[in-house]
Amino acid sequence: MTSAGRFAPSPSGELHVGNLRTAILAWLFAKSSGRDFLLRVEDLDRARSGAEAEQLRDLEAIGVSWDAAVVRQTERAALYDDAIARLTHEGRTYECFCTRREIQEAPSAPHAPQGAYPGTCRRLSHAEREIRRASRPASIRLLADVAEWGVEDQLHGKYVGVVDDFVLRRNDGVTAYNLAVVVDDAAQGIDQVVRGDDLLPSTPRQAYLARLLGLPVPEYAHVPLVVNHDGARLAKRDGAVTLGDLAAVGIPAERVRDLILESLHLPAGPLPDVLAAFNPGNLPKEPWVWITPRS
Ligand code: GLU
Repeated sequence: MTSAGRFAPSPSGELHVGNLRTAILAWLFAKSSGRDFLLRVEDLDRARSGAEAEQLRDLEAIGVSWDAAVVRQTERAALYDDAIARLTHEGRTYECFCTRREIQEAPSAPHAPQGAYPGTCRRLSHAEREIRRASRPASIRLLADVAEWGVEDQLHGKYVGVVDDFVLRRNDGVTAYNLAVVVDDAAQGIDQVVRGDDLLPSTPRQAYLARLLGLPVPEYAHVPLVVNHDGARLAKRDGAVTLGDLAAVGIPAERVRDLILESLHLPAGPLPDVLAAFNPGNLPKEPWVWITPRS
């Protein structure tokens, strides 16, 4: 099995400079450590037709290359089914019938962190479950036997975060991100996960789940996001933020790549030429404030 890093975009729209910067960082982390680099399209949810092709084209335009065929999550249902079946067989899952509203309104367990599932359906009797099944399809939750879990992150150090009874399969049948990401990273031989630091809070759940499934836990590096001038996470409404928008105002892909490299305190140029200067320890720790440059 190879040793690999990856970029795993959701094909919900065009990539913006924040996504492109994360992709460049993931590529640099992987290649500078002698790993392959893989691309996985996380299309279980929110996929927009045509977005995958645009995203792949834009990644190529800034010089992010990948070493194997692109993997799509919608083609991997059997792997997710297997993992859920194994956990269920071990008594580690249960059906949940709660609506979003019921979860919000349920009294939370003492000391339970904000947003953690309060465990309502854990305690349903067989008979109650039968009744609820007739009115609403169930989601499948993990029966977690810890409340928090620690991970090691290359940029954040030791990070301890919440593990609740999180959803493995939604009640519309869609496999949840937290399950799919763990199964896929292991199945693809990915032992290095570099992604935006908005995902750091989900990481303890994923590392714990990997442990339950007997899968190796990858090494993590959660990198700072790109923000707008108000400090909010960059979004499409923040003006020219995609390669398409930027090209339209006279800023070609190579220039965008170089601006991203400059924001990382790295020299401009094609990515393979930048590898020698890349040192994770020297990366800026703060978010990058994006101001659309003049052409
Ligand atoms: N598909 C997720 C996203 O685009 C990223 C998941 C990950 O890198 O683990 O936000």
